[in-house]
Amino acid sequence: MHEIDYISVDADVECPVCGEKLGNFETKDGPGAQVTLDFRDVNSFYSRCSKCNSIIEFTLKNPIEGDARANLTIDNYQKKSVIY
Ligand SMILES: [Zn+2]
Repeated sequence: MHEIDYISVDADVECPVCGEKLGNFETKDGPGAQVTLDFRDVNSFYSRCSKCNSIIEFTLKNPIEGDARANLTIDNYQKKSVIY
């Protein structure tokens, strides 16, 4: 079974549904070793809002290669709420 990894985000990110500050970012896009990765290292990650319980998914808007990843910001990721 593929374990999750944790994502560190060095910016304030608000829930698009209720405006609460998001935390506890996770990804299924990493090695699955329960390690903490920088968000720039993965193409997608997600968070569950602690206030409204929405799942917020972040997906890289445009493919990116190699060194350019270091310049990514949270704005390079599409943010959307997902209802499960
Ligand atoms: Zn919320």
